[in-house]
Formats: sequence, C-alpha cells, structure tokens
Amino acid sequence: MKNKIEVFPGDEVAVEEEYLASDGTFADNGKIYASQIGYLVLDDEECVARVVTPNPPNILKYGDIVYAIVADIRNTMATADVVAKDGTERQVGGETYATLHVSKIAPGYTDDVGKELRKGDFIRAMVLDTEPSLQLTTKEEHLGVIRALCGTCKTEMVRKGKGLYCPECKYSMPRKLADDYGNVKL
Ligand SMILES: [Zn+2]
Repeated sequence: MKNKIEVFPGDEVAVEEEYLASDGTFADNGKIYASQIGYLVLDDEECVARVVTPNPPNILKYGDIVYAIVADIRNTMATADVVAKDGTERQVGGETYATLHVSKIAPGYTDDVGKELRKGDFIRAMVLDTEPSLQLTTKEEHLGVIRALCGTCKTEMVRKGKGLYCPECKYSMPRKLADDYGNVKL
C-alpha cells in the first residue's frame, strides 16, 4: 500500500500493463476502473489494483452473535429488534427486525413462546438466516435472555433454577435464559 486516494465508481485508477483488476475494480480496454467508492490500493507485490472500503456496512450474516430486545410474542414466534452485534461497537446496518420461530428458541420442545421469552427481554441470539428475513435462534446454552424486568413492577428479575424470580412480587416465571444470566456486563 502506497497510495490512499479516494475514488468513485468509473474512475480510472490504473492501466492493465501495470496492474490486474481485483476487488472493487474492473478492467476495460486496457484500463482499470473503480467499481465502488473507496480508497485505491495499488499493490506492487501482487500487481493488483483494489478499491477498499474502510468501513463496510455492518451487515449481519449467518453465525453472528447479536443482542436484541424482544418486541412481541406471537403464537409461533417472537419478534425482536437487533441492537448490537457482538464484538463491534458499530451500529448494525441493514435489517434489524428479526423473528425467532418457536422451534428455534429453546433446546427442548416448546409450544408456548411466552414460556421462553417475554416482551422487553434483552437477549443474546445467533443469526440463522438473513434471507428472506432476519431469523435468530436462542437454542444454545450461551444464548437466550440475559436481562429481564418484571412485567408487573419493572424490578430486574433474578435467576432461580432454570427460570426467573421477581424479589418484589415474589413469583417465579419460566424463561430461556443464557447460561450467564445475571453476570452479563451491559
Ligand atoms: Zn415484580
């Protein structure tokens, strides 16, 4: 890397005598042009011309671990708004409205989404699919609810066995908890 010049699609960036077109560039009639906005990199070792985007959009993909807030509980699924991707401070780009199908929430058989998740729960989930819509799972041990408030008094609920307990209202509720519920720094 020797140059750092911002280029736009269609800008002529090099000639084919010296470089080959690579990521973010294309060759036409002996010349190389940028195919995207970014910084031109003329790599003299590999003799390729690239245009790189320093901050590609933070688009979610299969396997990403995300944090989300449960928005709604329906018969066969929950919906959630993804607020962050694990390992990055950057805002998530693209679709953030996600669904969790009842079969993807808890490891065993569940027919009642409301026994596993509640509106307002803060969850850690994994991206299962992004097309045609964003789909998440909380099946695994480390996935599930990491913070929940009591629906009645808004007190932070504490872990009790496999579920949650409100110390104010003194009642227990089932939940699909992440293995570190109560120990997550938010
Ligand atoms: Zn309560």
